[in-house]
Amino acid sequence: MFTLHHRYAELPASLWAACKPAPAADPRLVVFNAALAQKLGMEEQPDDATLARYFSGSELLPGARPMALAYAGHQFGNFVPKLGDGRALWLGEAFDADGERRDIQLKGSGRTPYSRGGDGRAPLGPVLREYLVSEAMAAMGIPTTRALAAVTTGERVMRMPPEPGAVITRVAASHMRVGTFQFAAARGDREALEALVEHAIERHYPALGEETGNARYLALFDAVMRRQAYLVARWMGVGFIHGVMNTDNASIAGETIDYGPCAFMEAFNPNQVYSSIDEGGRYAFARQPAIAQWNLARLAECLLLLMDGEENERVNEATAVLRRFDEAFAEARRQVNADKLGLATASERAAPLMEGLEDAMERGRMDMTATFDALYHLAADPGEARRDDLLALSEAPGKLAEWLARWQGEQVAGDNAERLAAMRRANPIIIPRNHRVQEAISAAEEGDYQPFYTLLGAVIAPFDDTPEARRLAAPATASERVLRTFC
Ligand code: AMP
Ligand code: MG
Ligand code: MG
Repeated sequence: MFTLHHRYAELPASLWAACKPAPAADPRLVVFNAALAQKLGMEEQPDDATLARYFSGSELLPGARPMALAYAGHQFGNFVPKLGDGRALWLGEAFDADGERRDIQLKGSGRTPYSRGGDGRAPLGPVLREYLVSEAMAAMGIPTTRALAAVTTGERVMRMPPEPGAVITRVAASHMRVGTFQFAAARGDREALEALVEHAIERHYPALGEETGNARYLALFDAVMRRQAYLVARWMGVGFIHGVMNTDNASIAGETIDYGPCAFMEAFNPNQVYSSIDEGGRYAFARQPAIAQWNLARLAECLLLLMDGEENERVNEATAVLRRFDEAFAEARRQVNADKLGLATASERAAPLMEGLEDAMERGRMDMTATFDALYHLAADPGEARRDDLLALSEAPGKLAEWLARWQGEQVAGDNAERLAAMRRANPIIIPRNHRVQEAISAAEEGDYQPFYTLLGAVIAPFDDTPEARRLAAPATASERVLRTFC
């Protein structure tokens, strides 16, 4: 299988707890990501029954050293000093084909020392949602954990109503979160904090290796800040709403982690929320950059504990880095927007033009993904037919027509093959729409996995224009619409 390493287990023992997965009653393989497994060094693929035992936790992967990782977190703004993996187990690290160290983690494999009142289990629905969405994100080139396997356990998990149980295997650049640093900081454990800083630099930011003293902590903070800014800009470019941007779900490596009640926005609306647990709209679409910055401020509070000098000075230095988030985010967004709109790479018109289009989309209740796909086609094939296709998506076409006149004076993609290709890559034909994900989950719960496989095949090739992709890409009709997602 894989050659597993255990670098994280060399960190202070307060940061993890050894724990065995619970065997499953009747593990059955639903899906296995053979391409990813190969990239992680798997030479020969075991049979499905063996894979089902490994990736349900019923049999330990050779070389695995299962442990639950400790972390704290602000959940919807409230600090919880001790959370940790309540239903996930880290098995070890494999080096991928690019020489990057990747965590392999089971989720749903039973209780751990951090489970508190939880059962340590995962229902099939959220497992399949994470599989679909994380692999779709990877295919769109957005930093994310990957899905390696999904297995049903043959047991029912006690939810209302009871649901089939499942385990997902995730692959991540690491599972270090802002909450990991908060855990050590809340315990006043400087040694653990220092170890986390060193591990984060070694693993994710080796270029910072030369810095010393306060500059070292500030450089790490700046690097994490930039990756978060880039990540949220990429999310927003495809209408992604994470749904639970708690500090324990903010990755130090800058990947999308912990797919819970996440969703892709359909009709453009900056205040959109799908998550059933986000009652106040704290994690609404357009609030995501401000929340990422808030989470980074919590990381700064941890790093301040390690810095030397007067408190005022330390705070000022960290705040200066935090303030640069706005600029880093604006620059990442500008680049994403230039690509989405087919503008010249450095165009200063990206922000105002995107604002205008967002306004037109909102007023016209336009589906975001369909709008940008139609815009791409208009750039590639200017003319009345494509223009009419786009205008037909709007309930306020007059507003959109005005905007189009402005855009047509600026966009360069049609005359520039490279820009046109970038525009395509920034505008997927298909995203995993809520109602399609729900349809795949409902069928799977009845034992029919075909809709899941078909949808997965389409969302991992988001730029392939096939009749099947077109069918699955269509926005939900009023009766199909799914407005709430659960984790
Ligand atoms: P999340 O909302 O997924 O980020 O999870 C927040 C915390 O709750 C984490 O510490 C999880 O491990 C824990 N948790 C969530 N669901 C369960 C469960 N069914 N059993 C045990 N712990 C859980
Ligand atoms: Mg979490
Ligand atoms: Mg979760």
